[in-house]
Amino acid sequence: MSSNLSIPKYDLVIIGAGIAGLAAARAAKGLGLSVKIFDKGQRIGGRAATRRADGFTFTHGAQFLTAHSVEFRNICQAALREGALTNWRIRGKAALVGCPTMRDFSVFLGRDLDVSQSVEITRIKMTENCLLFFDAKGFVASGQRTIITPPAPQTAALLRQITPTLAQTADGAVYAPCWTAMFGFDEAPPLPRTQEPLQFDDGPIALANYEANRPGSDSTNFALTIQASAKWSSLNLEDTSERAASALLYELSNLLGLQMPPTAHQSCHRWRYAKVIKPADPDKLISDCGRIAIAGDWIIGPRIEAAYLSGLRAFGQMTKAMHLE
Ligand SMILES: Cc1cc2nc3c(=O)[nH]c(=O)nc-3n(C[C@H](O)[C@H](O)[C@H](O)COP(=O)(O)OP(=O)(O)OC[C@H]3O[C@@H](n4cnc5c(N)ncnc54)[C@H](O)[C@@H]3O)c2cc1C
Repeated sequence: MSSNLSIPKYDLVIIGAGIAGLAAARAAKGLGLSVKIFDKGQRIGGRAATRRADGFTFTHGAQFLTAHSVEFRNICQAALREGALTNWRIRGKAALVGCPTMRDFSVFLGRDLDVSQSVEITRIKMTENCLLFFDAKGFVASGQRTIITPPAPQTAALLRQITPTLAQTADGAVYAPCWTAMFGFDEAPPLPRTQEPLQFDDGPIALANYEANRPGSDSTNFALTIQASAKWSSLNLEDTSERAASALLYELSNLLGLQMPPTAHQSCHRWRYAKVIKPADPDKLISDCGRIAIAGDWIIGPRIEAAYLSGLRAFGQMTKAMHLE
């Protein structure tokens, strides 16, 4: 270990800076633990995501959130007070949305946390005293405990060698994929000026959101995000992003009977693990040794609130096991 002496050792290493990882990290930091988060993405927030491209802003992951539990309502109230969330109505019901972009809610949650982006943990090694974390280039950190929050198949892959029981738990979760197409226009497209995203109950498209209509959005953000339905996404999952984007724009134009102007930007994101359709729903989120826990929306259900609560639940079980309360 002598060559690793300069690499810090943390009380808790969290894998994933999505909502689950951020919730767990905040709880741990609140108890005075040293916490490090590693995330393979370029930006904080995971699937609560925003993409900027060619001057346009797209909400290409979660569109809105709802808060039912006391714990999540409390943090949402704090974010509302600070302007990181704002109110929205979806299908006539109260909802919330990151402000000015969805990612701003994650930025709010991640404030004062130690997060390293663009670090993909590929292996975890358990020794008698600590856990060692590696990326493709080698050793990156060590920690006393860890909470693993990537989507279930990625969590299972990380845990298979060191705690097969938790890996098996993760194997129980099932996801639907989602192709998300993004288009930018030089002029306002002739889309309906609705107060909320257009949602479709069947057919190839699940949702179409003209970004300029979002609360808090810049009215000159002539950007359109289309989320394909789970069925269409599954059927076309291995298609190219170019073909998926063109097909979805064609389908929406037909559905609305509109001629869309030429696009100044066109891209498509393949969310392989988009929405949990069968959560793993385990009672136990922690390994027998008490040093490894799992969290993520796939523990409870396909929502930002579920991800948040799973992070709190995982850390809660860890504190009990380690007598940290
Ligand atoms: C298209 C789409 C639309 C949605 N719409 C809504 C909605 O309207 N409302 C709602 O409430 N929810 C919605 N959701 C679901 C919501 O986004 C998720 O439930 C929530 O964001 C999941 O958070 P999480 O922390 O569990 O996982 P994630 O957000 O997936 O976070 C996991 C993180 O782990 C990182 N990671 C993975 N593997 C590694 C590794 N090996 N090393 C380091 N980092 C790693 C990833 O980069 C990621 O940042 C939607 C999701 C999608 C994709």
